[in-house]
Parts: sequence; C-alpha cells; structure tokens
Amino acid sequence: MIPKTVLDALKAQIQKELFSAHTYLSMSAHFTSVNLPGFAHWMRKQYEEETGHALKIFDYIHERGGRVVLDAIEKPQADFKAPLDVMNRVLEHERSVTASIHSLYELAVKEKDYPTQIMLEWFIKEQVEEEKSAEDVINMLKMIGEAPAGLIMLDRQMASRGS
Ligand code: MG
Repeated sequence: MIPKTVLDALKAQIQKELFSAHTYLSMSAHFTSVNLPGFAHWMRKQYEEETGHALKIFDYIHERGGRVVLDAIEKPQADFKAPLDVMNRVLEHERSVTASIHSLYELAVKEKDYPTQIMLEWFIKEQVEEEKSAEDVINMLKMIGEAPAGLIMLDRQMASRGS
C-alpha cells in the first residue's frame, strides 16, 4: 500500500498534470486563432503528453491498490499575447511542475516508499526535457525578434513535432 501522505500527494499531482493538459490545449486554441498552426500543433502534442503523465500516475496508484477520485480541473487562461509571452508561461509552468515532482520525491524518501521513488525517477528526467524544449523555443523566438519571416519558419518547424 502507498502511504496515505504519498497517495494524497500523487492524487494532487494527477490534478496538476490534468491542469497542465488543459492549459496547453487552451494555448493550442489561441495559436490556431492567430494563424500559427505549427505552434498550435506543438501545444496539442504537449496536451497529449500531459494527459499521458496524469494517466501514468493514475495507473500507478491503482497498481498499488489505491483508488483515484478525480477532482474538478481549474479553468485555464484563455487570453494570450505574443508567442514569446506564451512560451515564457510554458517554461514558468513547467518549472513549477518540476518543483512539485521534486517535493513528491522528497516525501516518498521520507516515507521510505521505494516503489514511488522509482516511478518518480521517470518524471524527474521528463521534467528536464520539458524545461529544455520550452527553453529551446524561447531562445529561437528571442533570435527572431520582430521578424515575421523567422516566425513563419519557426512555426513550420513546430509543426513537425512528432510526439
Ligand atoms: Mg507533466
């Protein structure tokens, strides 16, 4: 059995991952509305990825004999500004998810819950990737500056994201 404190924290993490998914889907809608289909696609992939993260924890809880009861998902932001602002929000959001995964890990260590520690290692690595991919796009947007041709090229590149 998962210790109660860890179980509660895992359930809270499911909600955070679902909120992340919701946020990225909202960003995808925004990019579609401003004619940046590549960015919209990238955000949609991000949405799918976050849903996958929630399901990973969902399945893990049940595997260990727990029971997930879902909560409401907070309303995501719907008004966005320039792509750079949106991507800065993505990075900020991912950093907060990283912090939350790290404190979850610390809790699992404190509770001597070894299986949860192993499960969370995947998430710790994943967060390194999440932050890097947001930073990569931010750096490109900074290089592009106000040049529309650069943004169109980057949008095409964002469209090629496979998973
Ligand atoms: Mg996630």
